[in-house]
Amino acid sequence: MAIDYTKGKKVQPQKYPYPQQAGQPKKVILIFPPDWYPSEPYLSLPTLTAFLRKAGHCVIQKDMNLEMYDWFFSEEGLNLILERTPRKHTHFNITKLTEKAESAKTIIRSQEFYNVDKLEWAMNVFREVTDTISLAYAPARICMPPMETDLNYKLFMSSEILKAVEDTQVNVYRDVFNHILKPAIEAEEPDIIGISIVLKQQLFSSITFCAMIKEQFPGIHITIGGNTVTRLRDVLPQARNMFSLFDTAIMYEGETAFLQLVNAIGTDRDFSTIPNLIFKDSTGIHISTITSAEDMPTLPPPDFDGLSLEKYFVPDRILPYLSTRGCYWGRCKFCDHGEGYTAGYRAKNIDQIIEEIQHLRDKYQVSHFHFPDESYPPALFKKLTRRLIKDDLQIAWSTHLRFEESLLDDKVWEDAEKSGCKFLHMGFESGSERVLKLMGKATTTEVIQRSLEASSGHGVWNHVMGFFGFPGETFEDAKITVRFLEDNKEHVHSIGFGTFDLSKYSPVLKNAERFGVTYNKNPEWDLALDYYFTVKEGLGIEDAERVLAEFEQSHYKGWDLRIYIREYVFLYVAHYGTNKLPLLQFRVQQK
Ligand code: SF4
Repeated sequence: MAIDYTKGKKVQPQKYPYPQQAGQPKKVILIFPPDWYPSEPYLSLPTLTAFLRKAGHCVIQKDMNLEMYDWFFSEEGLNLILERTPRKHTHFNITKLTEKAESAKTIIRSQEFYNVDKLEWAMNVFREVTDTISLAYAPARICMPPMETDLNYKLFMSSEILKAVEDTQVNVYRDVFNHILKPAIEAEEPDIIGISIVLKQQLFSSITFCAMIKEQFPGIHITIGGNTVTRLRDVLPQARNMFSLFDTAIMYEGETAFLQLVNAIGTDRDFSTIPNLIFKDSTGIHISTITSAEDMPTLPPPDFDGLSLEKYFVPDRILPYLSTRGCYWGRCKFCDHGEGYTAGYRAKNIDQIIEEIQHLRDKYQVSHFHFPDESYPPALFKKLTRRLIKDDLQIAWSTHLRFEESLLDDKVWEDAEKSGCKFLHMGFESGSERVLKLMGKATTTEVIQRSLEASSGHGVWNHVMGFFGFPGETFEDAKITVRFLEDNKEHVHSIGFGTFDLSKYSPVLKNAERFGVTYNKNPEWDLALDYYFTVKEGLGIEDAERVLAEFEQSHYKGWDLRIYIREYVFLYVAHYGTNKLPLLQFRVQQK
């Protein structure tokens, strides 16, 4: 049940018959669309930018997500938006609201952020402002935080997305385009615009931008890419009306494909020679039969030049940096991360990693890093911590980790602490040995417990992620999970729990019978990325939701944080130099 990387005839970027340099330099705008919490740049833009600039192209990076929220919480943006509000709702004081919005932004971008009362006040102001903005786009609900904006259309149907694109009442992104993106396109006059769609929630804004660019700037080539596009690659060619709003789509890793596309535009080159591409011609929409995967050591470090780093909603900049592609483990049966790749796990070597972190630290004056690797490999984790100490990089960092027997030694955690490791996202999933086995996690509750104790004892904040309802999991298994977490609450600092989703490319779905799963694909829901299912044994969807609801009601109150944004907790741990932060605990503090 290993990941299948065979997704077309593989071509190696280095041996590719077309040059990796710009023939004729072109101007590219890269867009990161809303909605995402604006705490740090998303890595796709700086990664592609570095690659395209190295080849000689001119790139303008636009984090539209950041710019949108900056505009929402500004006097100019709010006044413009609230002009749309029906008179019966204009009982609020706009001047007072804009003053509060600007003050809230000042707090989250200054050292006042570390006063939790002030930070909580700022977050409440963001909620109040987005609630008020919602009145202008009713019945849409604009929500931040949490990131739950809802345009009142179904995301899993292309026909609904197309209706949302045209709906001038609910579609807030139309105004975002007119006031932010359109002036930038007019000023820059790009040849190509690329939009990186990571989450399916970004489809509304992305397709809206595509439609409005096509209408107002028909000469610009639009390409979309990213994780969601990769997962929709089988249905995009059928969604012809949606595909008419952009020109091409890039699947899997984007560097070589994007560069080859940029080089090819304006020439008579056949697009079928470009790897990872979905394209159209007079005969229809086609998927390229060749694929490429990047050779990690040859990739340049991300290039953040042109992004307004000072505008992110944090007091101390956090930069993302990736050392690996793919997951070194890759065997968890619920996980489809491997679907984004056409080659297995690859890594940069430790010298290069340290050199690049140092380069980013010095160039962008940053001391906080997020390493968003799928799961940081244990051997590299140990090397990284030792080298960060030896080279005295003096950074604070966070990453994602699997519970590994090879990471139990206390020295590992001593090094992690000394090297500045502050926050770990831990893939716990379940406290039941039986379910861990079913999932293919290949770890034990003893390893989990000892890892939690060791990391917590060395100042690391453990954010433990899990879910209920893996096929075959029983009520008893779920109780064991709850009991395990309660027993170890001293070393579990925060939790992120949900229920099992049967995602489109997961090993469970590919082996549904073996897991006792029956699922249903609704043909009208063409963009669905997970499906409704029933199980032969154990918790079904509704049971798992009940278990989760009960867990949320009755779990240890110390896990209910006043501020629940992971990057913010990371910054607090780094700032206060401890993982013991009762000031963040909501209900415990109020007792
Ligand atoms: S859940 Fe995490 S560790 Fe497991 S395969 Fe997916 S990325 Fe790798």
